[in-house]
Amino acid sequence: MFIAHLPAGYLTANLLARKHKNRSSLIAVGLVCSILPDFDLLWFYLVDNRQTAHHEYFFHWPLFWCFLAFATWILSWILGQGQIRRYILVALTCLLVHMLLDSFAAEIYWLRPFSDFHLNAVEVPAKFEWWVWSFVFHWTFAVEIGICLAAAIVFLRNKKNAI
Ligand SMILES: [Zn+2]
Repeated sequence: MFIAHLPAGYLTANLLARKHKNRSSLIAVGLVCSILPDFDLLWFYLVDNRQTAHHEYFFHWPLFWCFLAFATWILSWILGQGQIRRYILVALTCLLVHMLLDSFAAEIYWLRPFSDFHLNAVEVPAKFEWWVWSFVFHWTFAVEIGICLAAAIVFLRNKKNAI
């Protein structure tokens, strides 16, 4: 997935934050978390010298984020900070939506570190010399454009309703 992570995060966070008093900050958390796994590209390019597919790093392991969310949830309970639980929910959901979308045209290891089971729902064949064109001219890119359009419509509708 190339261009739809942020719009998909907006749609997800918008849904989960609907009618919540902290709507704006919840959506902000959702937007950050919708692209957070891809920050491992810094490691991919700057440290690993592109030796390992970045989808194999722990930032793309759904169970890593589930564990982190669970630990944070327990901490919020111990510290009596129940108001952050909605943020944890939005963050985890947007992170998992990222991995779900990456499961189309990339291998995501849903059960790591316990299993090497991976899901790649749609194989994108390398038809062009520059790999990006293979993705852009594949039908999955039309789905990405659809997600972007849906997010734009919802954003404009929300903006109009706020006036
Ligand atoms: Zn990703």
